[in-house]
Amino acid sequence: MAKINKHGLSRDIPPDVKQAVRNRDGFGCIICGSAIYDYEHIDPEFKDAIEHRAEGIVLLCPNHHRGKRRSISVEQIRRAALAPKALEQGFAFESFDPGLEHPVITVGGVTGTNVDTILQVQDRPIIWIREPEAPGAPYRISAIFWDAHGYPILSIIDNEIRSHPRNWDVEVRGNLLRIRSGPGQIVFQMRTDPGSGFTIERMDISYAGYRFRAIEGGPLWVDHPSGVRTEISGAEMDKVEYLVLVSGQEFVIGRAGRRAPSGLCKSGATVTHLPKGKGKKNAPPAPASFRPHAPRVGEWLSQQRKE
Ligand SMILES: [Zn+2]
Repeated sequence: MAKINKHGLSRDIPPDVKQAVRNRDGFGCIICGSAIYDYEHIDPEFKDAIEHRAEGIVLLCPNHHRGKRRSISVEQIRRAALAPKALEQGFAFESFDPGLEHPVITVGGVTGTNVDTILQVQDRPIIWIREPEAPGAPYRISAIFWDAHGYPILSIIDNEIRSHPRNWDVEVRGNLLRIRSGPGQIVFQMRTDPGSGFTIERMDISYAGYRFRAIEGGPLWVDHPSGVRTEISGAEMDKVEYLVLVSGQEFVIGRAGRRAPSGLCKSGATVTHLPKGKGKKNAPPAPASFRPHAPRVGEWLSQQRKE
């Protein structure tokens, strides 16, 4: 995808134009109301645009964004733009609604209420949640997925899909957000239950030599660069800034912080460290949905490039 069109216009839309589009379209896809979206130039299309005008840009979720090139006509999108779905009944997010209350977040055996950052490694936030930018708007989800060399591959920042490389796939189906790094390789799957929170149903992501895996109903597994594996279950946290934090030599489940100075551990976690070597033997069997010998995300991508 070219970064600049034939008129020399960059793909980067100025923040004030984006804000005008978000407000006008009700913070959701104009067709289905999903709160996970991208910006799309429709009038004129990006290739012909000489400037970024809010009037010519709409919010579309990944399904309807891609759908435009398949089954949905520009005419249908223009019609939808006149009555954005998210605005139909106030803010009604029919699809993938992060809700209006600070969500409860469940990832593997760890549950957190009033959490800012779900996962952070050193100074890099990986998955985090922010308050709505306007009254009635949804909570904002952000996640950055990295390759083995520390470069961002795919990012969702404040509900906006910022980059979308060819091999990766973002899909919103009903209340499910699913991200794949390749065919059959789900790296992240999150369900939203409006009014109650988010459940990360599946996760298999790596950063800085750490690998984080979780499956709904199971524990959270962390494979450390040293070969040690940590298994966490039964942790319930309230008012924590970080739910899972790896910092220096520290590995922390539930840390209070600037925004939440009085973190509460409502129930103790069961944390099992499986030492190197022994770990492999005693480690729980990987969930069936995780392929034990699947290459790491970055490796998979570089393999694809070689082909
Ligand atoms: Zn949509």
